[in-house]
Amino acid sequence: MASESSTPTGEVVTRFAPSPTGFLHIGGARTALFNWLYARHHGGRTLLRIEDTDAKRSTQEAIDAIIEGLDWMGLDYDAPPLFQSDRAERHAEVAWQLLKAGHAYKCFATPEELEAMREEQRALKKPLRYDGRWRDRDPAEAPAGAPFTIRLKTPEAGETTIHDRVQGAVTVKNEELDDYIILRADGTPTYMLAVVVDDHDMGVTHVIRGDDHLNNAFRQLPIIRAMNDIEGGWPDPIYAHIPLIHGSDGAKLSKRHGALGVEAYRDEFGILPEALFNYLLRLGWGHGDREEITREEAVALFDLGGVGKSPSRFDMKKLENLNGHYLREAENARLAALVAARIGEGADEALLARAMPVLKVRAKNLNEVVEGAGFLFAKRPLAMTEKAASLLEGDARPILRKIYEALRGENDWTSEALEATTKALAEEQGLGLGKLAQPMRAALTGTTTSPGIFDVLVLLGRDEALARLDAQAA
Ligand code: GLU
Repeated sequence: MASESSTPTGEVVTRFAPSPTGFLHIGGARTALFNWLYARHHGGRTLLRIEDTDAKRSTQEAIDAIIEGLDWMGLDYDAPPLFQSDRAERHAEVAWQLLKAGHAYKCFATPEELEAMREEQRALKKPLRYDGRWRDRDPAEAPAGAPFTIRLKTPEAGETTIHDRVQGAVTVKNEELDDYIILRADGTPTYMLAVVVDDHDMGVTHVIRGDDHLNNAFRQLPIIRAMNDIEGGWPDPIYAHIPLIHGSDGAKLSKRHGALGVEAYRDEFGILPEALFNYLLRLGWGHGDREEITREEAVALFDLGGVGKSPSRFDMKKLENLNGHYLREAENARLAALVAARIGEGADEALLARAMPVLKVRAKNLNEVVEGAGFLFAKRPLAMTEKAASLLEGDARPILRKIYEALRGENDWTSEALEATTKALAEEQGLGLGKLAQPMRAALTGTTTSPGIFDVLVLLGRDEALARLDAQAA
């Protein structure tokens, strides 16, 4: 079978390169996941680069949230994160190398002059592009000491084709690419230059990112090819531009659809990391119609061939269904710790762990587990939901008294024994078991939905259970 890598050593190196201007939203998390999986599948390395060159919009809070979010999802990196802002000197060095070798040139056009140029283009309804006015001009013609930018000499004729692993062959006419700035007048590098230099220096072989960057690839490649021409060792990376995630209505994902930081899924929605991992994997990548895929299976199976070309739709219901599956699979002690932390003061982790087998089976998220666990820690007199209160009307309270008396005589406080005793009482009274179970549920939990009523009795323990029944019995 042909190797997917075209690098001489065959090593795969991927990277996730978030701009810390916001949290790690799910689109970014999926890009990170695909990069991580691709590298792990091929036994390669995966790296993290924080693209923090936009000092005004980058925040430490966002950097922390991104790193924490990746960690929570179990995406680990093979080197400490690289901060793009630390590397401005190196970026500038490459700009000067390109200039010296004639692949770039100094542009002395003033901002006013460039604005006038664009004004004219607008008036003529032409695309707004730098017109190359300094490309072939002698820098000696510029006034002494005049500020300049360094612009890349992009190819003027022909076309460039990228064989993208997801998008297929994509071709752009070179005349559409203008000679853009790689080094600003103040000596700082532009984003387009920084990305290319960092990818090279990090040894990145595969650039897997959102397809909103596909156009950038055509602008970045000329730098790569020029540097390869100058010093060699700058192969074209393999590109894979993955379609963006859309909302369930097909529109571009926004906050309204759930384009929130992964921490919102963790904290607000009570999603487990393995569920988000599995969901994001399936969002845009498929392996037959398998829905549930573990981390290990994902590493074994992932490849770029399975990534679809059309945007995928985010579906909270599907995420919650997967989450329900992973809740049922998760260790009870782990869930008990998570739920105890959410409940805060008064939560009994050991009790939660014992209750977890019956609590988690019905829940789709941790909030529902917390809700379901509420009866364990409720204080007498129990607050009643309206529905629960209605179950205590009519002859319910006298029946509860009989139940209380019968259970008080029960020495074997196990769900089997309690069930047998309650059934015997129901028969003796000529009532269906439901007629007894409903007021019991109300009295024991204050609600109308709970785990099986005999499990509830056991979890509460003899004293507390009897006290709750007694409190509502007439
Ligand atoms: N920093 C860019 C972003 O967050 C990604 C750049 C890249 O992957 O090349 O969208």
